[in-house]
Amino acid sequence: MTAWEIKGWCPGALRPMQSGDGLVVRIRPPLGRLTPAQAAAIATASQSHGKGIIDLSARANLQLRGVTEASHPRLIDDLRAQGLIDPDIETESLRNLIVTPFRDSETTALAATLAATLARMPRLPGKFGFALDTGPRPVLTGASADIRVERSANGRLILRPEGHPCGQSVTDLALDAVAMAEWFVANGGITNGRGRMAALIARGIVPPRCTLVPAEPLLAPTPGQHAEGILVALAFGQMRAETLCQLATLNHEIRPTPWRMLFLVGATDLPAIPGLITDPADPILRVTACTGAPGCPQGLQDTRNLALQLAPHVPVNQTFHLSGCAKGCAHPAPADLTLTATGQGYDLILDGTASDTPSLTSLTPGAVQDHLQALNAPHL
Ligand code: SF4
Repeated sequence: MTAWEIKGWCPGALRPMQSGDGLVVRIRPPLGRLTPAQAAAIATASQSHGKGIIDLSARANLQLRGVTEASHPRLIDDLRAQGLIDPDIETESLRNLIVTPFRDSETTALAATLAATLARMPRLPGKFGFALDTGPRPVLTGASADIRVERSANGRLILRPEGHPCGQSVTDLALDAVAMAEWFVANGGITNGRGRMAALIARGIVPPRCTLVPAEPLLAPTPGQHAEGILVALAFGQMRAETLCQLATLNHEIRPTPWRMLFLVGATDLPAIPGLITDPADPILRVTACTGAPGCPQGLQDTRNLALQLAPHVPVNQTFHLSGCAKGCAHPAPADLTLTATGQGYDLILDGTASDTPSLTSLTPGAVQDHLQALNAPHL
């Protein structure tokens, strides 16, 4: 057992997780942003000490794949030189904060305040997280978090526990955030070291003063030009190190987002960079696929090569999830069409999750493609 295999902690850079293609090193960008120099350093480190493949996570983190136990210390040294590594595992695991990529100067200051407060929180479960969503409109409601900082319909700062429709007014962000976390612990939110705010709220246990309605959230933003910059997507939220290296040369601050896209602050146009998606109608954006085999040890079949092949055949306005096994990591919610890999091929599930009962079983890739084409064919 290696030093980082300690139960009860979320994986990070200092304690990577084992995958089918080596260690996965998760970098949590400080305050949710990367300078061009930091982005270039991550790309170089990924090539030097890993496989040169970088994933964007649903918590707006970057994951470097294919790192080995031998190369991990050198990788950490290179990233630490850029201010990307916490002093120890405990500090790293506490820094579970997603910040809206669309922010004003107040949001930037609030992010610094909240980040500095995390060390004063009571001991919380490893997956317990915070979302600072105080840009012009909330955009992080689909991202995993337990305590959200948002604005009310009339612009007041509120603290909203996940699972509750309203929040409480903020007087002092640091004090109020710690108080809500302490309330969660004191009211039985943790059992055997685990627990989430939404589960506590679902039990009818609600913090006091949650009366302020948050501003209307925006749906997940699409790639392309936005008021403050350009949002770029990547097939399956994964890029080669060369892509990040090219983005770094454009000299924009880069903000990873929980939609597995990168926000290039201040960008108004982009050169042609292979792998970047800026067209919201690109069919690959309708497809979700996990790592699958061979990258994930649980993967029963290839996922992403097949997903690339099938994407143009997915009916417009339908969501398609290709899962390497019934766990369904990449898309736990139902999709219009789900393809789950099994030992015998692929099972097709309609309007369900990867573990739901399939309509068709043991399909070959060719049979799946035929089925999608039939769905696309005009009905006479
Ligand atoms: S769904 Fe299965 S194959 Fe895909 S990443 Fe999760 S465990 Fe691995």
